[in-house]
Amino acid sequence: MSKKNSKNSTLSCPSCKNISIQYIGEIPLTTIFAGQIVAEHFAKSCLYRCEHCFLHFRWPRPTKQQLYALYKKNQIDNQQNKTMHRRDWKIASRLISEYEGQKTILDIGCGDGSFLNYVGKDWKRYGVELNEKLAAEAEAQGVHIVQTDFDTLATIKQSFGVVMALNVIEHTEDPVSFFKHMMGLTAAGGIVIISTGNTLALSWRFMGSKYWYCSLNDHISFINRSWCQTVSKEFQMPIVSSQQFSYFEAQLFLSGCADIMKNAMYKVLPSFFCWLRKKGFGGIDVDKYPDMHNSPPSWHTAKDHMMVVFRNNKAVM
Ligand SMILES: [Zn+2]
Repeated sequence: MSKKNSKNSTLSCPSCKNISIQYIGEIPLTTIFAGQIVAEHFAKSCLYRCEHCFLHFRWPRPTKQQLYALYKKNQIDNQQNKTMHRRDWKIASRLISEYEGQKTILDIGCGDGSFLNYVGKDWKRYGVELNEKLAAEAEAQGVHIVQTDFDTLATIKQSFGVVMALNVIEHTEDPVSFFKHMMGLTAAGGIVIISTGNTLALSWRFMGSKYWYCSLNDHISFINRSWCQTVSKEFQMPIVSSQQFSYFEAQLFLSGCADIMKNAMYKVLPSFFCWLRKKGFGGIDVDKYPDMHNSPPSWHTAKDHMMVVFRNNKAVM
């Protein structure tokens, strides 16, 4: 059972600074970073929940400088961007097509611009991208890169009909500050679209801090429906759409059963699961990456992601 502040009595929420923090548990050590197994070693960390703003967060966490150095060293996995059938792309493009305001869109963390291409050339397309190679590819596809770093959004002087961030907020140190900057970039009546993992998903609640999504080292902040409602109220940005989905395409019923069994086994018999990994099951070379021997199984069939749309009504006034 979780205990309040059982691991760190001086810890406060990295976002709202509240000291009412609930300890959820230790996060399994892995060396997964930016979608791939890397040679780095990472420090052990735990998962906590702020009882005021409902943010879940990893602590201790790599500093911003450490994260940026690792992003630069390890090319961000872009293979998923080559897949034109990502579930979040389909949902986001439908939501965008329903938007009736000015046809300008800013994609924060736009990668090589594949999603903006998917949206279509009817839109004036802008992007923010840290990886220089990907940013150059996006520009070659007609995307205007307006910034490199999601921490410098305040320097952008334009406004956009749609401001979106797919799988970005989990990388930010302070999601509220990030949200506030996104809001500041929306035009009158514009919308903010955020997609990320959802800590209130049944699969995540079952696994707690052992959930695969929080074992990825570049994931440091985790939100949920309650967090969204809190910021919606605070910034007077009503939620106009919210849905949960599985990040990966619909899979066979049997794949869902296999995911449940693997995760349940990991939760109940972690040493047996670890032994299986060492015997070569699970497809990870634990001789080459010994820190991966205790890594949790994925749960790709779970509806553990959410996409939420906020409307900036305040700007209309
Ligand atoms: Zn908080």
